[in-house]
Amino acid sequence: MSSRNKRRSGGKIDRREIARSSQMRLINILENPSQFDEKIVRSSAQHLVKISQRHRLPIPSKARHLFCRRCLVPYRYGENVRVRILAGQRVVTCLECSSIRRYGGGPKHHRR
Ligand SMILES: [Zn+2]
Repeated sequence: MSSRNKRRSGGKIDRREIARSSQMRLINILENPSQFDEKIVRSSAQHLVKISQRHRLPIPSKARHLFCRRCLVPYRYGENVRVRILAGQRVVTCLECSSIRRYGGGPKHHRR
């Protein structure tokens, strides 16, 4: 009937809002790894994934390129990650777990 207003009694703070702000805090650490201890940076990536899964939030697109989605190691360009542009795609190779991820549309010659 009157479901247009999202007025709810109780005044619960939206948990996902909290989760989102923690995401932002963790992303800030991942974006400025030199300002933090390496242990903190590493655990930040793990926390970010955990929080996102628990609250069913997407990982913000700007954070997707900040760490390896497989072993959750923060990327340190020139150290543990290799980035190549290949046929219009960004190919990111994690040197820690040797997983390869491709970003971007790429060409349309997928057929062999
Ligand atoms: Zn990795």
